[in-house]
Amino acid sequence: MKIKFLGAAQEVTGSMHVLELEAGSLLIDCGFYQGRRAEARERNQELPGEVEAADAAILSHAHIDHSGSLPTLVKSGFAGRIYTTPATRDLCDYMLRDSARIQKADAAYLNRKFAEDPDFEPVLPIYEEQDVERALDRFVSVPYHQTFEPLPGVTATLLDAGHILGSAQILLEIRERGQTTRMLFSGDLGRKGLPILRDPELPSGRLDYVVMESTYGDRVHDPVGQMRDDLERVIRDTMARGGKVIVPAFAVGRTQELIYALSELVRAGRLPPVPVYFDSPLAIDVTEVFRRHSECFDVETRAFLHDNGEVFGFAGAHFISSSEESIRLNELRGPAVIISASGMAEAGRILHHLRNNVEDPRNTILIVGFMAQHTLGRRLAERRPKVKIWGVERELRAHVEVLSSFSAHADRDDLLRYAEACGASTRRFFLVHGEPAPQHALIAAMTQRGFAAYAPERGETVELGSER
Ligand SMILES: [Zn+2]
Repeated sequence: MKIKFLGAAQEVTGSMHVLELEAGSLLIDCGFYQGRRAEARERNQELPGEVEAADAAILSHAHIDHSGSLPTLVKSGFAGRIYTTPATRDLCDYMLRDSARIQKADAAYLNRKFAEDPDFEPVLPIYEEQDVERALDRFVSVPYHQTFEPLPGVTATLLDAGHILGSAQILLEIRERGQTTRMLFSGDLGRKGLPILRDPELPSGRLDYVVMESTYGDRVHDPVGQMRDDLERVIRDTMARGGKVIVPAFAVGRTQELIYALSELVRAGRLPPVPVYFDSPLAIDVTEVFRRHSECFDVETRAFLHDNGEVFGFAGAHFISSSEESIRLNELRGPAVIISASGMAEAGRILHHLRNNVEDPRNTILIVGFMAQHTLGRRLAERRPKVKIWGVERELRAHVEVLSSFSAHADRDDLLRYAEACGASTRRFFLVHGEPAPQHALIAAMTQRGFAAYAPERGETVELGSER
């Protein structure tokens, strides 16, 4: 029994792990790699041979860095099933189509830009909408806690990961040569008390191996409850200066949390009237998926829904679909909040809003999500004096506020609690989905508590069971 770590190994994107078993090979997640353009193109265009050769796949959640390469996988000939929760399947329907559209636009842009260069070979989108449809045909929806058999002799169960709608941990029981190995993939783990979602389930029973995320292995977040206070303060301060609040936010998860938090503030009379624009067609579609899947909501959100009849809407909220309406936001005068994608400010409509607003000291750029290295979002979060937007340097004169209370990822203390719940019987914890510094910090903290933790490199293969 072997495990191969083929992505999100000592980095945070491109999640991809393959278990090679006697019964066949099982792929866990098949995510897009996000980072420097040329490297991203290369890694996303051609998947590792072991990934293409998988017999079945299980998807932990819909974020594109976990799901974004599934159409490429199916295009390369993968004929197995892709198991995931019903909400994740519905989210992927929108997100993967959106990804295909972005690639088409990207390819067209590059082909135009380098049209005069004789050495330039025209770029094709990595996949197109028809590949997305073929991938969606391979999906099998399985609710939480219902066991299924992705390969003969392998039983799988999805547990709530509390990270985004439909997110799952994957528990596997692998029977081989008269022995049963229990293995848990945490997927991306949420936090206790996050709005909308239930808390991540803590594992129980003996576990032999745990593949655990480590994004914030070196940090403790501000409490979730502080989120509304932070939001109120930032909006009030910016309004007092006559400025706008610009928020790059992931279309899935973060945007819905913001809608819900703002609904609560408005209903409680804590915010003066201010127009809030949600400028992202994908976020609007995804919000519909959230409405459809109230079975994933926690008790508080169900109660709010019951009392107010609506979780995702409030007086002053405007949802912008058409690009004409989006362009009209450029002419907005006076205080406003604009929430737009992409979440790391790498593409999409948020770039227009940033270009128009970063140089005005009355405005605030509000950072509410994780920003990977080499992204514009990271440079804004680091408050660089100058930032490049579409190749043009701009002075960063707007205020920048970084709120960690919004994080949808477990922090160091949550991860240590999770490790404790997995128990001392765990032979090895493999840390994935983290940059080297947080991983080192987490390994040190785990080692101190007697856990065997290790962060594999990308491409590394580990033989399991040899330590018996
Ligand atoms: Zn995620």
